[in-house]
Amino acid sequence: MGPQVVSVASDLDFPPSADVVIVGGGIIGVSSALYLAERGIKVVLCEKGHIAGEQSSRNWGWCRQAKRDPREFDLIREAMRLWRGMDAHIGASTGFKTTGILFSAFDEAKAAKFEAWSKEAAAAGIHAEVLRGAEVGNVMPGDTKPMQAALWCATDGKAEPQKAAPAIAEAARRAGAVILTDCAVRGIETGGGKVIAAITERGRIVAPTIVVAGGAWTRRILRDLGLHLPQLKVRSSVMRTSPMDDGPRAALWDGDFAFRKRDDGGYTVATGSGSEAPIVPDSFRFFADFLPAMKMEIGSLKLRLNGRFVTEWREAAARPYDQISVYEETRVLDPEPDRANRGRSFDALKRRFPVFAGSRMVQAWAGFIDATPDAVPVISPVDGISGLIVATGFSGHGFGIGPGAGYLVADMASGARPIVDPHEFRISRFFDGSRPAPVAGL
Ligand SMILES: Cc1cc2nc3c(=O)[nH]c(=O)nc-3n(C[C@H](O)[C@H](O)[C@H](O)COP(=O)(O)OP(=O)(O)OC[C@H]3O[C@@H](n4cnc5c(N)ncnc54)[C@H](O)[C@@H]3O)c2cc1C
Repeated sequence: MGPQVVSVASDLDFPPSADVVIVGGGIIGVSSALYLAERGIKVVLCEKGHIAGEQSSRNWGWCRQAKRDPREFDLIREAMRLWRGMDAHIGASTGFKTTGILFSAFDEAKAAKFEAWSKEAAAAGIHAEVLRGAEVGNVMPGDTKPMQAALWCATDGKAEPQKAAPAIAEAARRAGAVILTDCAVRGIETGGGKVIAAITERGRIVAPTIVVAGGAWTRRILRDLGLHLPQLKVRSSVMRTSPMDDGPRAALWDGDFAFRKRDDGGYTVATGSGSEAPIVPDSFRFFADFLPAMKMEIGSLKLRLNGRFVTEWREAAARPYDQISVYEETRVLDPEPDRANRGRSFDALKRRFPVFAGSRMVQAWAGFIDATPDAVPVISPVDGISGLIVATGFSGHGFGIGPGAGYLVADMASGARPIVDPHEFRISRFFDGSRPAPVAGL
Protein backbone atom coordinates (compact mmCIF):
# COMPACT_ATOMS: atom_id res chain seq x y z
CA MET A 1 0.00 0.00 0.00
CA GLY A 2 1.18 3.47 -0.84
CA PRO A 3 1.64 6.28 1.65
CA GLN A 4 -1.34 8.02 3.22
CA VAL A 5 -2.19 11.01 1.01
CA VAL A 6 -4.21 14.04 2.12
CA SER A 7 -7.62 13.41 0.62
CA VAL A 8 -9.10 15.74 -2.00
CA ALA A 9 -12.85 15.34 -2.53
CA SER A 10 -14.22 15.29 -6.06
CA ASP A 11 -16.46 18.04 -7.38
CA LEU A 12 -19.90 16.60 -7.94
CA ASP A 13 -21.12 18.53 -10.97
CA PHE A 14 -19.91 17.18 -14.29
CA PRO A 15 -19.19 19.98 -16.79
CA PRO A 16 -19.99 19.09 -20.44
CA SER A 17 -17.40 21.53 -21.75
CA ALA A 18 -14.24 23.40 -20.70
CA ASP A 19 -11.46 25.51 -22.15
CA VAL A 20 -8.88 22.95 -21.02
CA VAL A 21 -9.20 19.35 -19.76
CA ILE A 22 -6.24 17.95 -17.84
CA VAL A 23 -5.78 14.18 -17.71
CA GLY A 24 -4.02 13.25 -14.46
CA GLY A 25 -3.96 14.64 -10.93
CA GLY A 26 -0.27 14.31 -10.06
CA ILE A 27 2.01 17.27 -9.32
CA ILE A 28 2.12 18.19 -13.03
CA GLY A 29 -1.64 18.09 -13.57
CA VAL A 30 -2.54 20.02 -10.41
CA SER A 31 0.15 22.67 -10.99
CA SER A 32 -1.10 23.13 -14.56
CA ALA A 33 -4.66 23.43 -13.24
CA LEU A 34 -3.63 26.04 -10.67
CA TYR A 35 -1.83 28.32 -13.09
CA LEU A 36 -4.57 27.98 -15.73
CA ALA A 37 -7.42 28.66 -13.29
CA GLU A 38 -5.58 31.70 -11.95
CA ARG A 39 -5.64 33.13 -15.50
CA GLY A 40 -9.43 32.81 -15.59
CA ILE A 41 -9.37 29.79 -17.89
CA LYS A 42 -12.14 27.21 -17.43
CA VAL A 43 -10.21 24.08 -16.56
CA VAL A 44 -11.39 20.57 -15.60
CA LEU A 45 -8.92 18.07 -14.14
CA CYS A 46 -9.81 14.36 -14.38
CA GLU A 47 -7.98 11.89 -12.15
CA LYS A 48 -8.74 8.19 -12.47
CA GLY A 49 -7.99 7.48 -8.79
CA HIS A 50 -7.19 10.04 -6.11
CA ILE A 51 -5.05 13.17 -6.31
CA ALA A 52 -1.35 12.26 -6.06
CA GLY A 53 -2.16 8.55 -5.83
CA GLU A 54 0.80 7.51 -7.96
CA GLN A 55 4.33 8.96 -8.32
CA SER A 56 3.52 12.35 -6.84
CA SER A 57 2.91 10.99 -3.33
CA ARG A 58 5.47 8.17 -3.50
CA ASN A 59 8.63 10.10 -4.25
CA TRP A 60 11.48 11.16 -1.99
CA GLY A 61 10.26 14.75 -1.88
CA TRP A 62 13.51 16.22 -3.16
CA CYS A 63 13.27 19.56 -4.91
CA ARG A 64 16.71 19.64 -6.39
CA GLN A 65 18.74 21.61 -8.84
CA ALA A 66 21.90 19.62 -8.00
CA LYS A 67 22.94 17.21 -10.73
CA ARG A 68 20.19 18.30 -13.11
CA ASP A 69 20.57 17.82 -16.80
CA PRO A 70 21.53 21.23 -18.23
CA ARG A 71 18.51 21.02 -20.54
CA GLU A 72 16.39 21.46 -17.39
CA PHE A 73 18.37 24.31 -15.79
CA ASP A 74 16.04 27.16 -16.71
CA LEU A 75 12.89 25.28 -15.78
CA ILE A 76 14.19 24.00 -12.42
CA ARG A 77 15.39 27.50 -11.52
CA GLU A 78 11.86 28.80 -12.12
CA ALA A 79 10.32 25.82 -10.32
CA MET A 80 12.43 26.48 -7.21
CA ARG A 81 11.33 30.12 -7.26
CA LEU A 82 7.70 28.95 -7.38
CA TRP A 83 8.27 26.39 -4.57
CA ARG A 84 9.79 29.03 -2.32
CA GLY A 85 6.69 31.20 -2.64
CA MET A 86 4.17 28.36 -2.94
CA ASP A 87 2.80 28.15 0.61
CA ALA A 88 2.23 31.91 0.75
CA HIS A 89 0.77 31.88 -2.76
CA ILE A 90 -1.80 29.15 -2.10
CA GLY A 91 -2.34 29.84 1.61
CA ALA A 92 -1.63 26.21 2.57
CA SER A 93 1.32 24.02 3.45
CA THR A 94 3.16 21.90 0.90
CA GLY A 95 5.91 21.19 3.43
CA PHE A 96 8.46 23.00 1.28
CA LYS A 97 11.70 23.89 3.08
CA THR A 98 15.15 24.88 1.90
CA THR A 99 17.42 22.24 3.43
CA GLY A 100 20.27 21.77 0.99
CA ILE A 101 21.05 18.54 -0.85
CA LEU A 102 24.39 16.76 -0.87
CA PHE A 103 25.67 14.21 -3.42
CA SER A 104 28.67 12.13 -2.41
CA ALA A 105 31.50 12.23 -4.99
CA PHE A 106 33.27 8.93 -4.04
CA ASP A 107 36.47 9.81 -5.96
CA GLU A 108 38.40 12.66 -7.57
CA ALA A 109 37.14 11.87 -11.07
CA LYS A 110 33.57 12.31 -9.87
CA ALA A 111 34.48 15.45 -7.94
CA ALA A 112 35.98 16.89 -11.14
CA LYS A 113 32.74 16.13 -12.99
CA PHE A 114 30.80 17.88 -10.24
CA GLU A 115 33.15 20.90 -10.52
CA ALA A 116 32.50 21.10 -14.26
CA TRP A 117 28.76 20.70 -13.72
CA SER A 118 28.77 23.47 -11.06
CA LYS A 119 30.38 25.89 -13.52
CA GLU A 120 27.75 25.15 -16.14
CA ALA A 121 24.99 25.53 -13.53
CA ALA A 122 26.43 28.85 -12.31
CA ALA A 123 26.13 30.24 -15.84
CA ALA A 124 22.41 29.43 -15.64
CA GLY A 125 22.04 31.15 -12.26
CA ILE A 126 22.17 27.99 -10.12
CA HIS A 127 24.71 28.05 -7.33
CA ALA A 128 26.27 24.74 -6.21
CA GLU A 129 29.77 23.92 -5.01
CA VAL A 130 32.05 20.98 -4.42
CA LEU A 131 32.86 20.67 -0.72
CA ARG A 132 35.92 18.82 0.57
CA GLY A 133 36.98 17.26 3.87
CA ALA A 134 35.75 19.13 6.93
CA GLU A 135 33.45 21.31 4.80
CA VAL A 136 31.36 18.22 4.06
CA GLY A 137 31.08 17.41 7.78
CA ASN A 138 29.75 20.89 8.45
CA VAL A 139 26.63 20.28 6.36
CA MET A 140 26.38 16.53 7.05
CA PRO A 141 27.45 15.84 10.64
CA GLY A 142 27.50 12.43 12.30
CA ASP A 143 29.03 10.42 9.42
CA THR A 144 31.36 7.61 10.58
CA LYS A 145 33.00 7.45 7.14
CA PRO A 146 33.31 11.11 6.16
CA MET A 147 33.16 11.84 2.46
CA GLN A 148 36.26 13.21 0.72
CA ALA A 149 34.21 15.42 -1.57
CA ALA A 150 30.59 16.09 -2.34
CA LEU A 151 28.38 18.28 -4.48
CA TRP A 152 26.40 20.68 -2.29
CA CYS A 153 23.49 22.82 -3.37
CA ALA A 154 22.43 24.88 -0.36
CA THR A 155 19.34 26.31 -2.08
CA ASP A 156 17.84 22.88 -2.79
CA GLY A 157 15.08 21.61 -0.56
CA LYS A 158 12.14 19.31 -0.09
CA ALA A 159 8.37 19.34 0.04
CA GLU A 160 6.05 16.71 1.50
CA PRO A 161 4.74 14.55 -1.37
CA GLN A 162 1.72 13.33 0.59
CA LYS A 163 0.37 16.83 0.97
CA ALA A 164 1.90 19.06 -1.73
CA ALA A 165 -0.17 18.05 -4.78
CA PRO A 166 -3.40 17.86 -2.72
CA ALA A 167 -2.75 21.39 -1.38
CA ILE A 168 -2.13 22.68 -4.91
CA ALA A 169 -5.27 20.90 -6.19
CA GLU A 170 -7.41 22.57 -3.51
CA ALA A 171 -5.87 25.93 -4.43
CA ALA A 172 -6.65 25.30 -8.09
CA ARG A 173 -10.25 24.59 -7.13
CA ARG A 174 -10.45 27.82 -5.12
CA ALA A 175 -9.18 29.61 -8.22
CA GLY A 176 -12.03 28.08 -10.26
CA ALA A 177 -10.79 24.69 -11.50
CA VAL A 178 -13.12 21.68 -11.40
CA ILE A 179 -11.42 18.66 -9.85
CA LEU A 180 -12.92 15.26 -10.66
CA THR A 181 -11.47 12.20 -8.94
CA ASP A 182 -12.40 8.57 -9.68
CA CYS A 183 -12.95 9.89 -13.17
CA ALA A 184 -10.79 8.15 -15.76
CA VAL A 185 -10.37 9.61 -19.20
CA ARG A 186 -10.98 6.62 -21.45
CA GLY A 187 -9.71 8.36 -24.53
CA ILE A 188 -9.37 11.58 -26.50
CA GLU A 189 -11.70 12.26 -29.38
CA THR A 190 -10.03 14.00 -32.33
CA GLY A 191 -11.21 15.15 -35.73
CA GLY A 192 -9.96 17.43 -38.49
CA GLY A 193 -6.45 17.41 -36.99
CA LYS A 194 -7.49 18.72 -33.58
CA VAL A 195 -8.76 17.52 -30.24
CA ILE A 196 -12.52 17.63 -29.77
CA ALA A 197 -13.34 16.09 -26.39
CA ALA A 198 -12.14 13.99 -23.49
CA ILE A 199 -14.22 10.85 -23.15
CA THR A 200 -14.43 10.10 -19.44
CA GLU A 201 -16.15 7.30 -17.57
CA ARG A 202 -18.75 9.88 -16.50
CA GLY A 203 -19.34 11.35 -19.95
CA ARG A 204 -17.85 13.58 -22.62
CA ILE A 205 -16.17 16.94 -21.97
CA VAL A 206 -15.83 19.04 -25.10
CA ALA A 207 -12.62 21.12 -25.03
CA PRO A 208 -10.33 22.76 -27.57
CA THR A 209 -7.27 21.94 -25.44
CA ILE A 210 -6.44 18.69 -23.64
CA VAL A 211 -3.34 18.26 -21.49
CA VAL A 212 -2.13 14.69 -20.99
CA ALA A 213 -0.27 14.60 -17.68
CA GLY A 214 -0.88 10.91 -17.03
CA GLY A 215 2.55 9.97 -15.64
CA ALA A 216 3.36 6.33 -16.34
CA TRP A 217 0.06 5.92 -18.27
CA THR A 218 0.81 8.58 -20.84
CA ARG A 219 2.38 6.16 -23.30
CA ARG A 220 -0.84 4.11 -23.19
CA ILE A 221 -3.10 7.17 -23.58
CA LEU A 222 -1.14 8.47 -26.57
CA ARG A 223 -1.04 5.05 -28.20
CA ASP A 224 -4.76 5.32 -28.94
CA LEU A 225 -3.97 8.47 -30.92
CA GLY A 226 -1.36 6.63 -32.99
CA LEU A 227 1.55 8.27 -31.15
CA HIS A 228 4.27 5.91 -29.91
CA LEU A 229 6.05 7.90 -27.22
CA PRO A 230 9.10 5.96 -26.01
CA GLN A 231 8.34 5.72 -22.32
CA LEU A 232 9.07 2.82 -19.98
CA LYS A 233 8.34 2.21 -16.33
CA VAL A 234 11.03 1.86 -13.68
CA ARG A 235 10.09 0.58 -10.24
CA SER A 236 11.65 2.44 -7.34
CA SER A 237 11.18 1.57 -3.64
CA VAL A 238 11.07 3.87 -0.63
CA MET A 239 10.52 3.61 3.12
CA ARG A 240 10.01 5.90 6.05
CA THR A 241 11.40 5.65 9.55
CA SER A 242 9.88 6.31 12.95
CA PRO A 243 10.30 9.91 14.22
CA MET A 244 13.75 10.82 15.57
CA ASP A 245 14.78 13.68 17.84
CA ASP A 246 17.96 14.33 15.96
CA GLY A 247 19.58 13.66 12.60
CA PRO A 248 20.90 15.59 9.59
CA ARG A 249 18.80 18.46 8.32
CA ALA A 250 20.16 18.31 4.77
CA ALA A 251 19.31 15.50 2.34
CA LEU A 252 21.99 13.08 1.17
CA TRP A 253 22.57 10.73 -1.76
CA ASP A 254 25.37 8.27 -1.18
CA GLY A 255 25.01 5.32 -3.56
CA ASP A 256 23.95 2.71 -0.99
CA PHE A 257 21.26 4.98 0.44
CA ALA A 258 19.58 8.34 0.19
CA PHE A 259 17.59 10.17 2.86
CA ARG A 260 15.81 13.34 3.78
CA LYS A 261 14.12 14.57 6.95
CA ARG A 262 10.32 14.54 6.98
CA ASP A 263 7.98 16.98 8.69
CA ASP A 264 6.72 14.13 10.93
CA GLY A 265 10.23 13.81 12.42
CA GLY A 266 11.11 10.60 10.59
CA TYR A 267 13.18 10.19 7.45
CA THR A 268 12.31 9.09 3.94
CA VAL A 269 15.01 6.56 3.07
CA ALA A 270 15.72 4.77 -0.19
CA THR A 271 18.43 2.87 -1.89
CA GLY A 272 20.54 5.39 -3.78
CA SER A 273 20.60 3.09 -6.79
CA GLY A 274 19.00 -0.28 -7.55
CA SER A 275 15.80 0.57 -9.41
CA GLU A 276 14.16 -2.12 -11.49
CA ALA A 277 12.82 -2.03 -15.04
CA PRO A 278 10.26 -4.74 -15.74
CA ILE A 279 10.63 -6.30 -19.18
CA VAL A 280 7.40 -5.58 -21.04
CA PRO A 281 6.36 -5.64 -24.70
CA ASP A 282 7.39 -1.96 -25.02
CA SER A 283 10.93 -2.87 -23.87
CA PHE A 284 11.40 -4.54 -27.26
CA ARG A 285 9.64 -1.84 -29.24
CA PHE A 286 11.77 0.90 -27.64
CA PHE A 287 14.97 -1.12 -27.18
CA ALA A 288 17.10 1.04 -29.49
CA ASP A 289 15.74 4.27 -27.97
CA PHE A 290 16.66 3.23 -24.44
CA LEU A 291 19.94 1.46 -25.19
CA PRO A 292 22.21 4.48 -24.40
CA ALA A 293 20.37 5.05 -21.10
CA MET A 294 20.58 1.37 -20.18
CA LYS A 295 24.32 1.33 -20.86
CA MET A 296 24.78 4.29 -18.52
CA GLU A 297 22.68 2.74 -15.79
CA ILE A 298 24.32 -0.67 -16.02
CA GLY A 299 25.02 -1.86 -12.48
CA SER A 300 22.28 0.18 -10.86
CA LEU A 301 19.25 -0.72 -13.02
CA LYS A 302 18.02 -4.31 -12.93
CA LEU A 303 15.89 -5.77 -15.72
CA ARG A 304 13.21 -8.20 -14.51
CA LEU A 305 10.76 -10.42 -16.31
CA ASN A 306 7.65 -10.69 -14.17
CA GLY A 307 3.86 -10.35 -14.30
CA ARG A 308 4.08 -6.83 -15.75
CA PHE A 309 4.80 -8.36 -19.18
CA VAL A 310 1.38 -9.98 -19.42
CA THR A 311 -0.36 -7.04 -17.71
CA GLU A 312 1.00 -4.53 -20.21
CA TRP A 313 0.45 -6.88 -23.13
CA ARG A 314 -3.21 -7.07 -22.17
CA GLU A 315 -3.50 -3.36 -21.39
CA ALA A 316 -2.10 -2.34 -24.77
CA ALA A 317 -5.15 -3.57 -26.70
CA ALA A 318 -7.46 -0.78 -27.84
CA ARG A 319 -10.95 -0.77 -26.34
CA PRO A 320 -14.11 1.03 -27.38
CA TYR A 321 -14.65 4.08 -25.18
CA ASP A 322 -18.08 2.88 -24.05
CA GLN A 323 -16.42 -0.01 -22.20
CA ILE A 324 -14.58 0.02 -18.87
CA SER A 325 -11.02 1.14 -19.57
CA VAL A 326 -7.67 -0.10 -18.29
CA TYR A 327 -7.48 3.13 -16.26
CA GLU A 328 -10.57 2.15 -14.28
CA GLU A 329 -9.23 -1.37 -13.80
CA THR A 330 -6.13 0.07 -12.09
CA ARG A 331 -7.25 3.16 -10.22
CA VAL A 332 -3.90 3.39 -8.46
CA LEU A 333 -0.70 1.80 -9.72
CA ASP A 334 0.73 0.35 -6.53
CA PRO A 335 3.75 -1.90 -7.11
CA GLU A 336 5.23 -4.03 -4.33
CA PRO A 337 8.37 -2.54 -2.78
CA ASP A 338 11.69 -4.34 -3.12
CA ARG A 339 12.20 -5.78 0.35
CA ALA A 340 15.78 -7.09 0.08
CA ASN A 341 17.25 -3.83 -1.23
CA ARG A 342 15.37 -1.78 1.30
CA GLY A 343 16.83 -3.74 4.25
CA ARG A 344 20.36 -3.44 2.85
CA SER A 345 20.03 0.34 2.46
CA PHE A 346 18.70 0.83 5.96
CA ASP A 347 21.51 -1.29 7.43
CA ALA A 348 24.13 0.64 5.45
CA LEU A 349 22.61 3.91 6.63
CA LYS A 350 22.70 2.83 10.29
CA ARG A 351 26.36 1.84 9.98
CA ARG A 352 27.30 5.19 8.48
CA PHE A 353 25.06 7.38 10.66
CA PRO A 354 24.67 5.94 14.20
CA VAL A 355 21.98 8.54 14.92
CA PHE A 356 19.63 6.21 12.97
CA ALA A 357 20.47 3.19 15.19
CA GLY A 358 17.32 3.40 17.31
CA SER A 359 14.95 4.23 14.45
CA ARG A 360 12.55 1.72 12.95
CA MET A 361 11.29 1.26 9.42
CA VAL A 362 7.55 1.93 9.75
CA GLN A 363 6.35 1.78 6.16
CA ALA A 364 7.60 0.89 2.69
CA TRP A 365 6.12 1.47 -0.75
CA ALA A 366 7.14 1.66 -4.38
CA GLY A 367 6.23 3.69 -7.43
CA PHE A 368 6.62 3.38 -11.17
CA ILE A 369 8.77 6.15 -12.63
CA ASP A 370 7.86 7.27 -16.18
CA ALA A 371 11.21 7.26 -17.96
CA THR A 372 12.12 8.71 -21.36
CA PRO A 373 15.25 7.66 -23.29
CA ASP A 374 17.10 10.92 -22.47
CA ALA A 375 15.66 11.30 -18.93
CA VAL A 376 14.30 14.73 -19.92
CA PRO A 377 10.54 15.35 -19.83
CA VAL A 378 8.17 16.03 -22.67
CA ILE A 379 6.27 19.30 -22.25
CA SER A 380 4.99 19.92 -25.69
CA PRO A 381 2.24 20.42 -28.21
CA VAL A 382 1.93 17.66 -30.80
CA ASP A 383 2.33 18.23 -34.54
CA GLY A 384 -0.79 17.22 -36.39
CA ILE A 385 -3.12 17.20 -33.36
CA SER A 386 -3.89 20.80 -32.58
CA GLY A 387 -4.91 21.44 -28.96
CA LEU A 388 -3.08 18.40 -27.56
CA ILE A 389 -0.38 19.14 -24.98
CA VAL A 390 1.70 16.37 -23.44
CA ALA A 391 3.49 16.79 -20.09
CA THR A 392 5.15 13.57 -19.04
CA GLY A 393 8.35 11.52 -18.81
CA PHE A 394 9.81 13.34 -15.82
CA SER A 395 12.11 10.33 -15.36
CA GLY A 396 12.38 10.29 -11.58
CA HIS A 397 12.77 14.02 -10.98
CA GLY A 398 9.43 15.62 -11.81
CA PHE A 399 8.31 16.47 -8.30
CA GLY A 400 10.86 19.23 -7.81
CA ILE A 401 10.35 20.66 -11.29
CA GLY A 402 6.56 20.18 -11.07
CA PRO A 403 5.39 23.77 -10.42
CA GLY A 404 7.66 25.06 -13.20
CA ALA A 405 6.38 22.42 -15.61
CA GLY A 406 2.78 23.24 -14.67
CA TYR A 407 3.44 26.92 -15.29
CA LEU A 408 4.92 26.12 -18.70
CA VAL A 409 1.89 23.96 -19.57
CA ALA A 410 -0.38 26.86 -18.56
CA ASP A 411 1.63 29.16 -20.83
CA MET A 412 1.27 26.74 -23.74
CA ALA A 413 -2.43 26.18 -23.17
CA SER A 414 -3.21 29.89 -22.81
CA GLY A 415 -0.97 31.13 -25.61
CA ALA A 416 1.20 33.16 -23.21
CA ARG A 417 4.92 33.75 -23.67
CA PRO A 418 6.54 30.61 -22.19
CA ILE A 419 8.27 30.98 -18.83
CA VAL A 420 11.30 29.21 -20.35
CA ASP A 421 12.24 28.14 -23.86
CA PRO A 422 10.41 24.80 -24.27
CA HIS A 423 12.53 23.59 -27.19
CA GLU A 424 14.39 20.87 -25.24
CA PHE A 425 11.07 19.39 -24.10
CA ARG A 426 9.54 18.97 -27.56
CA ILE A 427 7.99 15.56 -28.22
CA SER A 428 9.18 15.59 -31.83
CA ARG A 429 12.75 14.79 -30.71
CA PHE A 430 11.63 11.18 -30.41
CA PHE A 431 10.11 11.05 -33.86
CA ASP A 432 12.67 12.88 -35.99
CA GLY A 433 15.39 10.20 -35.81
CA SER A 434 17.70 12.22 -33.53
CA ARG A 435 17.68 9.55 -30.77
CA PRO A 436 18.44 11.82 -27.80
CA ALA A 437 20.37 10.34 -24.85
CA PRO A 438 20.91 11.25 -21.19
CA VAL A 439 23.84 13.48 -20.27
CA ALA A 440 26.76 11.14 -19.60
CA GLY A 441 28.70 11.00 -16.41
CA LEU A 442 26.57 12.93 -13.96
C1 LIG B 1 10.14 6.25 -5.67
C2 LIG B 1 10.20 7.55 -6.39
C3 LIG B 1 11.05 8.56 -5.92
C4 LIG B 1 11.09 9.79 -6.57
N1 LIG B 1 11.80 10.81 -6.02
C5 LIG B 1 11.73 12.04 -6.55
C6 LIG B 1 12.33 13.16 -5.91
O1 LIG B 1 12.86 13.05 -4.82
N2 LIG B 1 12.27 14.37 -6.52
C7 LIG B 1 11.66 14.54 -7.72
O2 LIG B 1 11.68 15.65 -8.24
N3 LIG B 1 11.01 13.51 -8.32
C8 LIG B 1 11.02 12.28 -7.76
N4 LIG B 1 10.36 11.24 -8.34
C9 LIG B 1 9.65 11.48 -9.60
C10 LIG B 1 8.35 12.23 -9.37
O3 LIG B 1 7.59 11.60 -8.36
C11 LIG B 1 7.57 12.27 -10.68
O4 LIG B 1 8.41 12.72 -11.72
C12 LIG B 1 6.37 13.20 -10.60
O5 LIG B 1 5.61 12.92 -9.46
C13 LIG B 1 5.54 13.01 -11.86
O6 LIG B 1 4.32 13.69 -11.68
P1 LIG B 1 3.16 13.46 -12.73
O7 LIG B 1 2.06 14.36 -12.34
O8 LIG B 1 3.71 13.58 -14.11
O9 LIG B 1 2.79 11.92 -12.59
P2 LIG B 1 1.97 11.13 -11.46
O10 LIG B 1 2.19 11.67 -10.11
O11 LIG B 1 2.25 9.69 -11.69
O12 LIG B 1 0.47 11.47 -11.83
C14 LIG B 1 -0.15 10.99 -13.01
C15 LIG B 1 -1.60 10.81 -12.65
O13 LIG B 1 -2.35 10.58 -13.84
C16 LIG B 1 -3.42 9.72 -13.51
N5 LIG B 1 -3.92 9.14 -14.76
C17 LIG B 1 -3.24 8.34 -15.62
N6 LIG B 1 -4.03 8.00 -16.65
C18 LIG B 1 -5.22 8.58 -16.46
C19 LIG B 1 -6.43 8.60 -17.18
N7 LIG B 1 -6.57 7.93 -18.34
N8 LIG B 1 -7.47 9.32 -16.68
C20 LIG B 1 -7.35 10.02 -15.53
N9 LIG B 1 -6.22 10.02 -14.77
C21 LIG B 1 -5.16 9.32 -15.24
C22 LIG B 1 -2.77 8.73 -12.57
O14 LIG B 1 -3.74 8.05 -11.78
C23 LIG B 1 -1.85 9.62 -11.75
O15 LIG B 1 -2.43 10.04 -10.54
C24 LIG B 1 10.32 9.99 -7.74
C25 LIG B 1 9.47 8.98 -8.21
C26 LIG B 1 9.40 7.78 -7.54
C27 LIG B 1 8.45 6.71 -8.03
